[in-house]
Amino acid sequence: MVQHNYHDQTKVIKGTVRPDLKTGAVNPPLHLSSTFAQKDPINLGKYDYSRSGNPTRDILEENIAHLEHGNRGFAFSTGMAAISAAFLSLHQGDHVIVTKDVYGGTFRLITELLPNYGITHTFVDLNDPYELKSAYQKNTKVVYIETPSNPTLKVTDIQAVAKSAHAHGALLFADNTFMTPIFQKPLDLGADLVIHSATKFLSGHSDILAGLIVTKDQELSNTIYFIQNAMGATLGVSDCWLLLRGIKTLKVRLQSEADNALKLARWLEKQPAIKKVNYPGLESDKNYEIQQKQAKSGGAVLSFDVQNEENVRTLVHNLELPIFSVSLGAVETIISYPCTMSHAELDLDEQAKSGITPGLLRLSVGIEDLSDLRQDFQQALEKLSAFEGKTKHEKIS
Ligand SMILES: *Cc1c(COP(=O)(O)O)cnc(C)c1O
Repeated sequence: MVQHNYHDQTKVIKGTVRPDLKTGAVNPPLHLSSTFAQKDPINLGKYDYSRSGNPTRDILEENIAHLEHGNRGFAFSTGMAAISAAFLSLHQGDHVIVTKDVYGGTFRLITELLPNYGITHTFVDLNDPYELKSAYQKNTKVVYIETPSNPTLKVTDIQAVAKSAHAHGALLFADNTFMTPIFQKPLDLGADLVIHSATKFLSGHSDILAGLIVTKDQELSNTIYFIQNAMGATLGVSDCWLLLRGIKTLKVRLQSEADNALKLARWLEKQPAIKKVNYPGLESDKNYEIQQKQAKSGGAVLSFDVQNEENVRTLVHNLELPIFSVSLGAVETIISYPCTMSHAELDLDEQAKSGITPGLLRLSVGIEDLSDLRQDFQQALEKLSAFEGKTKHEKIS
């Protein structure tokens, strides 16, 4: 068993490197077995069928639970499968309060699927305490947050929202994909359930799709276990193994990516063609203080506005290093266009309300050398016209 008094990263290495008793192999075996032979017809063993439990998946689930300081972890085939499982804990007639800046796929699930099962929702701007307070109904069971949000990087005060949710008899669910437990531990701040698209930072190499849930207490753990087994969208064994490998290097990758992101954000902020940079690690960002309070870093994702679609096209065509694609959280820098990619599910009006402007690009910064990234942006940004709204001072600095 993993020792509980070690620091998180030590725990992860100790918990993922488990020499095999028979052979001494340092990595856990891939238990590619759907079924498990039983010794006794009455008392079945710990494992019987892989949907209900698999030894390789168990190691992954234990480790994410340790990292998030939770009671139990659960691995799913995708982030959306994990999010769906979390919402399946609700019942007909229940109501959820959801942050306005929710991931596009989560938005689709909440607005287009959950209503079919009698689960209603209210979207709120969680930076406005009054909006949250007035959104509660008698049947509100869950408040659902994502912080920092995607793609405008707005920060929600987890502790404050947890307190409010609990005072109204609701649970707090938090999508922690952008921060990971290395930078932010929502359960320690009062959340009841944490979700990850492990497709992103946790696996970290753009090679698999995966989702994780960690629960804080035993009752909710039992519910999620029941749902995981009943709905059946568990993570395949090979992908569990790859995700375990990703988690071993999570801290070093993320720190290097976040260092690059902060330096790049500071530099981008000063570029004439850029109207605005959203990054909660910037001292100038309006969310800086809350981010400092609840997280160890601003993370590796930022977004910036180059004023219009034409500039977006020019920049994307001229950049040589970033991969232009959906997704984030990998060792390679990825640039994406929320309007047509992650947030295409929102209509123009909804996009505008969420601050997803036609000039907005999202950047997930990788581990490439910072000077190369900066140089690449420099040559591409030079082809854009300057933003006239910038003051002279901002242009020079
Ligand atoms: C990608 C993402 C998801 C969905 O995860 P999938 O693995 O793509 O299903 C959910 N939340 C956030 C914040 C994401 O970035």
